[in-house]
Amino acid sequence: MNYLDNVKRVVVKVGTSTLTYESGSLNIRTIEKLVKVLSDLKNRGLEIVLVSSGAVGVGMGKVGFSKKPDELDKKQALAAIGQCELMNFYDSLFSHYGHTVAQLLLTKDVISDGNRYKNAKSTLENLFAMSAVPIINENDPISTEQLEFGDNDTLSAYVAELVGADLLIILTDIDGLYDKNPRKYSDAKIIDTVYKIDEKIEKCAGGEGSNRGTGGMITKIHAAKIATDAGADMIIASGKNPYILYEIFDGEKKGTLFVSEFKGEKK
Ligand code: GLU
Repeated sequence: MNYLDNVKRVVVKVGTSTLTYESGSLNIRTIEKLVKVLSDLKNRGLEIVLVSSGAVGVGMGKVGFSKKPDELDKKQALAAIGQCELMNFYDSLFSHYGHTVAQLLLTKDVISDGNRYKNAKSTLENLFAMSAVPIINENDPISTEQLEFGDNDTLSAYVAELVGADLLIILTDIDGLYDKNPRKYSDAKIIDTVYKIDEKIEKCAGGEGSNRGTGGMITKIHAAKIATDAGADMIIASGKNPYILYEIFDGEKKGTLFVSEFKGEKK
């Protein structure tokens, strides 16, 4: 018996710095491992949703930009280019393992508009019934808020709420939440379990993310608040080797676990 034995529905979020190289080219080894382990977890009986960033980063790689442009409309165009490349790759890899993928591009109003919320929810329920793997990103080309203020950490937490997930796993370029910034302090230690997200925890999350993705640690803490309030536990762990998901589901403690006090009382 391990602490994830009762988990059935899982949202996994992967960031741009995990999916791509600095150049924006796809990190094929990492994505192949990710798809393999997700396919296997699905075979084990879990319901999986993948929230994947990388559209802008992959678009940059495709058109040969070495730096993310500042202009919103350029980022939106890059997202439109990169999203195709990403989905094409996911589709062929998941098909290889016998799974069907579905693309959902969401905008923030899905959360505030009751009708859209209901539509997204029932589409996702139908996809689970069809045993498909929903792959979700923000609809960046038409979503100005997201590229200006938002990030996929927040999106993944809302998705966890939307599907009533038991667990959200954010795979990123850092091993978990440290008690101080590990990029500055060599004696920084990982906090393995967080029961309450208070000011002290928020302070630990100071600092920036990488320059290709959008969120840093603070957006992950906000995501943890949304997810745990909605009844889902959340784990932040390193996405360097996606096989870490096997270890997590075999019951090993990896990264930082945020425990939901509302578990079992989903919104
Ligand atoms: N939606 C953006 C993309 O696919 C990523 C946002 C983020 O990095 O959180 O490029």
